[in-house]
Amino acid sequence: MLALAASRLGLNCHIYSPEQDSCAFEVVHASTCAAYEDEAALARFADAVDVITYEFENVPAQTAAFLSKRKPVLPDPRVLEITQDRLIEKNFIAELKIATAPYAPVHSASQLADAIAKVGLPAVLKTRQLGYDGKGQAKIAKGGDAAAAWRSLKQVPCILEGFIDFEREVSVIAARSADGKVECFEVTENEHRDHILHISKVPAKVSPALAAEARRVATRIAKAFDYVGVLAVELFVVRAGRRQSVLVNEIAPRVHNSGHWTIDGATVSQFEQHIRAVAGWPLAKPKRLGRVEMVNLIGTEVHEAAHWLTVPGACVHLYGKKDARPGRKMGHVTRIFSR
Ligand code: AMP
Repeated sequence: MLALAASRLGLNCHIYSPEQDSCAFEVVHASTCAAYEDEAALARFADAVDVITYEFENVPAQTAAFLSKRKPVLPDPRVLEITQDRLIEKNFIAELKIATAPYAPVHSASQLADAIAKVGLPAVLKTRQLGYDGKGQAKIAKGGDAAAAWRSLKQVPCILEGFIDFEREVSVIAARSADGKVECFEVTENEHRDHILHISKVPAKVSPALAAEARRVATRIAKAFDYVGVLAVELFVVRAGRRQSVLVNEIAPRVHNSGHWTIDGATVSQFEQHIRAVAGWPLAKPKRLGRVEMVNLIGTEVHEAAHWLTVPGACVHLYGKKDARPGRKMGHVTRIFSR
């Protein structure tokens, strides 16, 4: 989707991916299929391009650092080092005095007990690295077996987070240009199913004050990273009496599934904003085209595409992934309703 947006702006992409069946290869002329550790291939790739970006936060930080000695890598590889580790990321957010769920590190059995004493139960134990879509997570109920939860995560370094009884989940997709200007898309409301994003709706059902606060939080994070490109900030909306506020759950240093609606539902997409930013171009001011709903086609739901193709106004996107494994995001459908 980034390559398609770049192409519309007259820019050519060269895709580097270790995955032989990466669907991005299908839409570009230049590609390299090699491991992230293959320095000869990385060097040839860097020689062939003007600027490098990524759309996957688990690109090894060393790979990004290697490339950045040869060509600009945007966003800066330092962002990857922070966002690849939930503990470092949470500490970074806390230093900005932005609220998160209460959390504590868990590297040993005794630290697990300390963490429970600090954070309380129920809680969610998450691996510090390589978790996404609920993978690498275990909920611990009140009175639950915390040691068993940690064993289920292979006793790797973890972070324990207080379980948040949120009212809703929202995200902000923010773009920051090389000259430091920030443009946020409207706050998106996200519904998860089995920890995987299922439906995004815009506008989110939140007050204008809360929406402004969510955008301010995303803007502050983008500035603190000296970020260039698009990032997503996932937030929990919590209520204390009549007052709503936000807690940051996670930062994704990339275009994000909850921003896919912008392809059809806004005057500029998150993908085009990202390409503009990394190309050193001005950002657009996004305008939403109506009330928008995006639904993911997960696993065999991709077979429903035949139905969606007949629904008036439905914009169907299929990623061309070969294997419809359970939990795999195979495509999405966006619908725009009058306001
Ligand atoms: P994550 O991979 O951290 O984004 O978590 C995936 C989903 O799990 C989130 O979108 C929430 O629905 C849920 N979740 C994660 N952390 C918490 C938490 N501390 N409290 C309640 N729900 C959570």
